[in-house]
Amino acid sequence: MQSLIPDYYKELGEAARSGCRKVAWCSSVGPVELLRSLGFAVYFPENHGAMLGASRRAADFISAASALGLSPDICSYMTSDIGAFVQGKTALTSAYGLASVPRPDVLVYNTNQCRDVQDWFSFYSRHFEAPLLGIESPRGMVDVTSAHLRALGQQYQNLASQLEPIAGQSLDIDRLREVVASSLRCTTLWQEALRRGALRPSPLSFLDATVHMGPAVMLRGDPRAERYYEQLLQELDRRAQGGKGAIADERIRLYWEGMPVWGKQAELTEVLAAQGACVVASTYCHSFVFEGLSHPDPFEGMALAYSELFIARAEAYKERYLRTMAQEYGVDAIVFHDARTCPNNSNNRYGLPQRLRAQLGLPFVVIQGDLNDLRLFSEEQARTQLEALLEQVEAGRP
Ligand code: SF4
Repeated sequence: MQSLIPDYYKELGEAARSGCRKVAWCSSVGPVELLRSLGFAVYFPENHGAMLGASRRAADFISAASALGLSPDICSYMTSDIGAFVQGKTALTSAYGLASVPRPDVLVYNTNQCRDVQDWFSFYSRHFEAPLLGIESPRGMVDVTSAHLRALGQQYQNLASQLEPIAGQSLDIDRLREVVASSLRCTTLWQEALRRGALRPSPLSFLDATVHMGPAVMLRGDPRAERYYEQLLQELDRRAQGGKGAIADERIRLYWEGMPVWGKQAELTEVLAAQGACVVASTYCHSFVFEGLSHPDPFEGMALAYSELFIARAEAYKERYLRTMAQEYGVDAIVFHDARTCPNNSNNRYGLPQRLRAQLGLPFVVIQGDLNDLRLFSEEQARTQLEALLEQVEAGRP
């Protein structure tokens, strides 16, 4: 990881500086395969948002975005990213030596996850006078039907035609197939790694998984991501064979539903580990598993992969999904994170925790917080709530 991600950012910086390759900005669950197959160097602003959150300086940047009229109640990835930009700052400087975020030649969003990415990219499109393109996806689907796929597949084809003149090359369908196949292998290996969380003790925690998901977000479609997950799997298997868990003495297994609290990931992991509790699975990390890419048609494969993801689905699907995950990973309780600025990734608001408790008999807790804005999160309160949840689990045991 210490060479892979710096190399990726170095190449991105070089592309932006020298113009040797066109730069495309892409939403994290956007059509990266299409962009890569057209030769673009691809940058993911959401990853930058997460870096700002982890740096715990997001609040300063959010205030700067508020001065532009962006509400502090909208996506704090977006507001911290834009706030940092207007202050001339980026987390990429200290981490990877880039003076600024790479100037885009085109920005490509997908509304499958939320509308915020569209508004976020619109800001930069206006600023850089760069074209803004996107896929407008349906949301709240119980089932992804062939009608959805046909319509979306067509959008992907149209997008390809719009991107070709910007890329300065025509789409080579064989190259697209190759990139989609690489993306599928990456995502399958990532899924395998996450599945090791079902072992007892789990060799990886939520904290580990949020670090290791980096290549699945930023480098899927690039064979280097496949190599990374092959190595990770070997390491996880070695740990599992030695009976080595992610925490010292795993007695309680938890599921994390919702966004990470980026600035407090380590602290929350420690609070739990001190009580023998480990988060062994999460919706967030599993969201970068895209089985749909195995579709024989690469356009419909992208359409399927990027529309059947959890965040774009109806409550009935989410309920089924979480029930299966809780059972497969043998969890004792569920932690729901109600992230104030991301209602799209907060799934406690329509009675889902209560319905799952009734069906599975699992206790749960709802932590109020946010992905980036730590002013919306009380560590003390979260600690008390988590400790109470763990006591409840222990008390419920024979
Ligand atoms: S899904 Fe949530 S965190 Fe991600 S970009 Fe949209 S609003 Fe922001």
